[in-house]
Amino acid sequence: MHTASQTGTAAPARRTLGQFIGGEATHRGTRAYECVYPATGESTYEVLEADAETTDAAVRAARRALGGPWAHMTAADRGAVLRRIAERITARADEFLRAEIIDTGKPVGLAAHLDIPRGAANFSAFADLAQHLSGETLTTHTADRRGALNYSLRRPRGVIAVICPWNLPLLLLTWKVAPALACGNAVVVKPSEETPATAMLLAEVMNEAGVPPGVYNVVNGFGQGSTGEHLVRHPGVSGVTFTGETSTGTAIMKGAADGIRPVSLELGGKNAAIVFADCDLQRAVAGSARSAFLNCGQVCLGTERVYVERAVFDEFVEMLAREAAALRPGDPFDPATTLGPLISAGHREKVQRYFALARRQGARVVTGGGIPPVAERLRGGYWIEPTIWTGLEETSDILQQEIFGPCCHVAPFDEEDEAINRVNASDYGLAAAVWTENLSRAHRVAARLEVGTTWVNSWFLRDLRASFGGSKRSGIGREGGVHGLDFYTETHNVCIKL
Ligand code: NAD
Repeated sequence: MHTASQTGTAAPARRTLGQFIGGEATHRGTRAYECVYPATGESTYEVLEADAETTDAAVRAARRALGGPWAHMTAADRGAVLRRIAERITARADEFLRAEIIDTGKPVGLAAHLDIPRGAANFSAFADLAQHLSGETLTTHTADRRGALNYSLRRPRGVIAVICPWNLPLLLLTWKVAPALACGNAVVVKPSEETPATAMLLAEVMNEAGVPPGVYNVVNGFGQGSTGEHLVRHPGVSGVTFTGETSTGTAIMKGAADGIRPVSLELGGKNAAIVFADCDLQRAVAGSARSAFLNCGQVCLGTERVYVERAVFDEFVEMLAREAAALRPGDPFDPATTLGPLISAGHREKVQRYFALARRQGARVVTGGGIPPVAERLRGGYWIEPTIWTGLEETSDILQQEIFGPCCHVAPFDEEDEAINRVNASDYGLAAAVWTENLSRAHRVAARLEVGTTWVNSWFLRDLRASFGGSKRSGIGREGGVHGLDFYTETHNVCIKL
């Protein structure tokens, strides 16, 4: 195993991650598997896969915790605990940063700016939001004229299974755990098999912040036929919140159907941007580059289709290619690095298959399409070039399927209606970006897009109080603000005859 370089290359201490159950780290588990540093391909630490029995122990610990003080605390008291969690994440930001980078290979500038602060902010945001949980009160007319009063109570849903992907491990996990805890639930988290480190570090923070044992549990392992499936099918689980691929969402929904458990699904996307000729072109290019290449294109909201009004098409493509070429792959711990690797060898093979398909189908490769040169010690990593294509048919797999790499296809359009129809001609409906300086057009177009979020003259600008989620095959339900709290609580109507 290598040692730390000046710039802080992985240098992982050899260790084994197990589970976190009932407030304690445990080495329960069966098969051990290796995690890998995506920037070098080197093995980092081993993880023990939680079998059905271990997963059951975690769910039972969560159930027990629901009988304790947590579910009966006031929202204000739970909010205070959540704020302490946020403070402890911030105090231990360097450890979270290092764990996240070693798991994902993402550049330190990105993780320090986005993943870790958002991980903390999710807890403080939901500490506040849960104080504003309200129900409805109705006065009801009755035949005897004395009437009745209906009012609603909200109670925690119970044990929430939280199943997460690898692309934004801490951010997406806390985005679910924070509202679940704010509402008084207990959680059993299954991080991605590729990126378990920050979920386990968060377990330490939970103890430091005074979260009662069993309220936050972590089980590690794979999905189908493994920990993920054991968890989803466990009868002690009251609801499943999942972020990941659409095909996995289908499997999870089927698993949760036994026992009639609700699901909240944040799934894949094939997001588009529309660039009108009246836009601020420099801003549109910079925003589109960010949305296509951030986190090496491994963002569910990422733009993989760009439609540009014909008058500015050539100029846009040329400017976007310059932005792509300016990205710097390199040591993720070096602040000058702006492009990390893909998550795994398997994912790079998938992205490369799409690169080959694009060429076979006659795409013009404007830039990229290969593996970038990197320093000797990084050559075993899963590097890939930011890639831009033009010239493909709308029916091409490249324009229909989620690639999840640093790539986009740019196509010209002539009419506003045409652009809207092309954006909507997708099985997915997660997000879209519209670039225009024409206010009426911005509102008109946004209202017609079949997505859960439209950004106008921006991308990934998030107010945590706003709803977030996908239409069509991009998901079911909305997270964010009070919208998410509906999933984490159950409404109970009380009707009083006066
Ligand atoms: P994935 O679906 O392969 O895995 C996600 C998680 O599900 C992992 O923890 C995995 O172990 C688990 N899992 C897999 N099969 C399971 C099963 N049958 N039962 C229970 N659990 C199972 O996704 P990924 O490759 O980790 O992440 C990339 C995908 O996530 C992309 O499609 C991306 O668009 C999507 N994503 C969506 C959003 C969003 O908010 N809509 C955000 C981030 C990522």
